[in-house]
Amino acid sequence: MPETTPRSGSAAIIGRPNVGKSTLLNSLLGQKLAIATPKPGTTRSVLLGIYVQKDPPTQIAFIDTPGMHRPTNALGRALMEDAKAGFASADVIAFVTEIPKQGGTLSFPAPKDAEILEQLRQVKSKVVLVINKVDRLKEKGLLLPLMERASKAFDFASIVPLSALRNDNVSALVSALREQLPEGLIYDPEQLTDKPQRFFVSELVREAVLTHTHEEVPHGVAVVVDKFEEQPELLRIAATIIVSKPAHKGIVIGHRGERIKQVGQDARLGMEQMFERKVFLELWVKVVPDWTEDPAKVQSLVREPLGSV
Ligand code: GDP
Ligand code: MG
Repeated sequence: MPETTPRSGSAAIIGRPNVGKSTLLNSLLGQKLAIATPKPGTTRSVLLGIYVQKDPPTQIAFIDTPGMHRPTNALGRALMEDAKAGFASADVIAFVTEIPKQGGTLSFPAPKDAEILEQLRQVKSKVVLVINKVDRLKEKGLLLPLMERASKAFDFASIVPLSALRNDNVSALVSALREQLPEGLIYDPEQLTDKPQRFFVSELVREAVLTHTHEEVPHGVAVVVDKFEEQPELLRIAATIIVSKPAHKGIVIGHRGERIKQVGQDARLGMEQMFERKVFLELWVKVVPDWTEDPAKVQSLVREPLGSV
């Protein structure tokens, strides 16, 4: 029986530089693009794009975890900790390795991957191993023993050999990631297909609020985009920041409006970079008491935040 359950969630793509992560993302998002603009910011994880598939209904939010590089010093290690926290929160991790160039040794883990594998042992998320660049393999018979070695070295949820460059077997990766995701759709499908820009607007404002506030404020923040008007040289955008407590409104606005000004400036710069146009941004703050406790409000504010556009 075909699988028809809707599933969605986040997937972190990790791996050494040059194994083909960007190429893989392009090939994943290139065909079924919802959003593929890297989001500026310093958050622990960065939304790279959302893969959307109708049948079976699937939404995979690909996130990047900056700092996931070989730690050579204390700063590197600290960044690594951050990255680990980022990818540990993902529903599933795609760990990308590569078939080495002709003449290289085929082993698992490759020496430089051993460290990443150790990090992965410390997180609870399921891990799918991607063996990229299989097009380099002249002798296909070598693949199976390599996969066997990999499955002995780590408890991977699945192992997917593919070629990101040739777009070969990439769909198998989608299926493997999908299997690890919870049921249900996180994003309103309408919003992702026709209104990706508005989606990013709300994300940029939300991120700016999170950057400038602390403690319990961020958890109660949602952003509704009220206006998105395209003019030749200018975008006119208005958004409302929803908070869950009256006291939070004052915090978000700040003394003499200083904080909301900072928030607006950050968000606007992000938008101008993203849309390559001047942006006129208007921000409002509204209290919807305890909206986070009310499933219907959560649905309308978070799952369908663009209902009023
Ligand atoms: P990243 O650093 O992990 O993001 O790696 P990139 O996506 O930038 O790719 C690094 C290099 O590997 C580029 O030259 C890609 O063209 C190449 N590459 C990526 N995927 C494949 C593949 O499937 N086969 C081969 N032969 N090369 C690939
Ligand atoms: Mg890259």
